[in-house]
Amino acid sequence: MFEDTFDYVVVGSGAGGVQEEFEPRVGGLSDEALAEFVRANAWGHHASSTCPIGQPDHGGVVDSNFRVHGCQGLRVVDASIFPRIPGLFIASAVYMIGEKGAETILRAA
Ligand SMILES: Cc1cc2nc3c(=O)[nH]c(=O)nc-3n(C[C@H](O)[C@H](O)[C@H](O)COP(=O)(O)OP(=O)(O)OC[C@H]3O[C@@H](n4cnc5c(N)ncnc54)[C@H](O)[C@@H]3O)c2cc1C
Repeated sequence: MFEDTFDYVVVGSGAGGVQEEFEPRVGGLSDEALAEFVRANAWGHHASSTCPIGQPDHGGVVDSNFRVHGCQGLRVVDASIFPRIPGLFIASAVYMIGEKGAETILRAA
């Protein structure tokens, strides 16, 4: 299940195929062990979506006006509100959400 990912991300296969396998050696690990390795080690610069916009019964934390469900006077406007992790670099999407959040808050003031 993870072989293709590890070939590309960890081992770095080129046109000539995998040159050298290094830790964790895919051939020696079960899918479960690999999944645990990814859980323990994966990290990215684009963390997001921990307070997604959406209905509470679908895991949503804020509404489309950035208000936290069930709270008075609390809004979240940052990378955490994306319902899904945006593709590639997220800074421009964060700026966009900041502009929209400012407008929404000023309109309600
Ligand atoms: C090393 C690195 C490289 C990256 N490179 C890129 C890139 O090349 N392109 C790209 O698109 N994205 C990149 N990102 C991702 C991008 O920077 C973030 O996704 C984006 O900045 C998130 O915006 P945010 O407003 O949610 O949070 P942040 O930008 O982290 O803003 C949170 C702000 O809240 C402040 N704060 C925290 N706690 C408090 C408090 N208690 N009181 C007051 N203020 C507080 C912090 O000081 C900070 O200014 C990178 C991230 C990292 C870590």
